[in-house]
Amino acid sequence: MTTAPPPDRGLVLVVEDEQPIADLVRLYLTRDGYGVHVCADGDAGLAAARRLRPVLAVLDIGLPGISGTEICRRLRADDDWTPVVFLTARDDEVDRVVGLELGADDYVTKPFSPRELLARIRAIRRRSLGPPDTGVVHTLGTVTVDTARRSVTAAGRPTVLTSTEFDLLAHLMRRPGRVFTREELLASVWGYAAHAGTRTVDVHVAQIRAKLGDAAGVIRTVRGVGYTADG
Ligand code: CA
Repeated sequence: MTTAPPPDRGLVLVVEDEQPIADLVRLYLTRDGYGVHVCADGDAGLAAARRLRPVLAVLDIGLPGISGTEICRRLRADDDWTPVVFLTARDDEVDRVVGLELGADDYVTKPFSPRELLARIRAIRRRSLGPPDTGVVHTLGTVTVDTARRSVTAAGRPTVLTSTEFDLLAHLMRRPGRVFTREELLASVWGYAAHAGTRTVDVHVAQIRAKLGDAAGVIRTVRGVGYTADG
């Protein structure tokens, strides 16, 4: 069932087989001005993502049919970078979700508060809408980030990052040599300071490095502090 999307916020796809959770998420998103389409199984969810082109997808992981992670994997394989927030049932799913080439933008661990989920969604939407960009190009070593095109090249090779990975890399490269703590990065890039943990920063950095390949050294770990970008 679809709630008609208001023109300003757009449609969010929710794939969740536990009806009480789906209803709660729908209620909060609708109140916040989003249109909501709910699917209760993975195959319908994937089909809806392709058909409806939502502004964002909230995916439960354990679903009848294909899993939430599989939905995300298949979208990414089609070069579909719709922002994805996972609903994870266990904390130990987090590394798998954020780290393993799934291109998730964020996650919440069940049981979660709808307010927390909404905060994540707002932060992602804020970033993807963003302020108008004047088209700054940052280059460090062999890595170039173009904030107008939102494109990255590493060692002369175009590199596809998720929206969150891009924002994190661009944030670091904007101020080369400045060391950012994980908390600072959460606040600036994710848009909220209080999070279940700072591990999400680490898994995103690991993922960016994996994609940058030989140029991975552009992000340096500063032991006991955080991360910095330098050439
Ligand atoms: Ca489930």
